[in-house]
Amino acid sequence: MNKFFKEHLTVASNASGRKMHVPIYRFKGEEPGPKVYIQSSIHGAEVQGNVVIYHLIEYLKTTKIRGEIVLVPNCNPVGTNIKSGEYTLGRFDPINGQNWNRGYYFKEELINDFVDTVTADDSFEQVKHAFRQQVKKAIEAELSKTWGIGLAPRLNLQLQAQAFDADIVIDLHNGPVATRHIYVPEYAKESAKHFNIPHVIFIPNQFNGALDEAMFCHWWTLADKLSKKFPQQKWQIPVEAFTLEMGSQEVIDFDSGSYDAKGILTYLNYKNSLIDANLKPENINRYAVFLKDYKILYTQEGGIIEYKVKPGQHVKQGEVLAKVLNVDDLDNDNAVSYIYAPEDLIAILHFPSASVLCGTQLYKCFINYFPLP
Ligand SMILES: [Zn+2]
Repeated sequence: MNKFFKEHLTVASNASGRKMHVPIYRFKGEEPGPKVYIQSSIHGAEVQGNVVIYHLIEYLKTTKIRGEIVLVPNCNPVGTNIKSGEYTLGRFDPINGQNWNRGYYFKEELINDFVDTVTADDSFEQVKHAFRQQVKKAIEAELSKTWGIGLAPRLNLQLQAQAFDADIVIDLHNGPVATRHIYVPEYAKESAKHFNIPHVIFIPNQFNGALDEAMFCHWWTLADKLSKKFPQQKWQIPVEAFTLEMGSQEVIDFDSGSYDAKGILTYLNYKNSLIDANLKPENINRYAVFLKDYKILYTQEGGIIEYKVKPGQHVKQGEVLAKVLNVDDLDNDNAVSYIYAPEDLIAILHFPSASVLCGTQLYKCFINYFPLP
């Protein structure tokens, strides 16, 4: 059967000097195969991924795997514990204000320097191994900088050092009030159909600080540069990384968690990670957009809002998205106003609160979407 290991990684320490740890659950198969890394709750209010990991662990107790699967639930012990009244303020490092999912490492110069050292005789496996070591060394150097680094990047880099060994990386998130959607690098289009996720966002080779990008931008850029240097050789991108958004934050749901765990296992089965698993993708409608067509609708005015469109709903241009109550005008014709869909769209998520200021990200939507056969 699979070998199982459990350890703890120290990722932070609090003002009392107490170390803060995250658990690492590691399953190792007897046969060689891909190395998989899955983490959840880097944004502290997005807790559903922990239930998904629970279900994955239950499954992996009885199903043989190839290679290795590493599971890191609740990977941000700082963010999960920052409460304000009823809410978890889990999105930003409270000290420096940085988004907890924007402090990962990527530097194109490192890749340029590395490509200079590669010769035509180096095998793909040698290049892969050497590149991994190089990036991990750079991450260690960032972590041990004499001048130090902020809380969010400190946490991020320690997790990235674990993740960078993997061939497959999945970062589990939730939207505020959201339907299932997944970020997929454009080169991994085929893989998008193996998750049971109806909404797919294809992202370009562009680093904005998130974990999935910090993984695939390295390997994508490396493959591009090597293909230019050695045009006669075919350099594949050996790593796939995804951000998987499974519904709303501040909620866990065991049944949904079981469904999402099954979707992840179906993809892992497609990637040869499981032995004798009879898992096939669900026959669902999948819609996709390129990242430029994943649009944010900001409010022009503040007010109290009823969300008329649920995440996942298809809406025609001009239809009502939200109904607004303006408390300064309750006695006149301006008491109620409406926010309309600027284009045909699919609503993917909306702001969680009824009271909104102007400039709030009210809805995030797919436009110019297309079916994924
Ligand atoms: Zn998130």
